Amino acid sequence: MNDSEEKPVCPKCSSKSIAQIHYGLPAFTEDLERRLEAKEIILGGCGISEDSPKYQCVDCGEKFGLYL
Ligand SMILES: [Zn+2]
Repeated sequence: MNDSEEKPVCPKCSSKSIAQIHYGLPAFTEDLERRLEAKEIILGGCGISEDSPKYQCVDCGEKFGLYL
């Protein structure tokens, strides 16, 4: 496992509390639930389009980045 992935920063409020938006139907595992609760992950639903954002700021709700 490689956890050294760079953490994104909110372009609006510079917060580092960023949740990654997951699309589609995830497998509900204990790990996923823990990450949802910690707001590391937000579920974006099944609808994904070309301008679907990849991240959402936990503090101000700004969505940014492109998923595709
Ligand atoms: Zn923000």
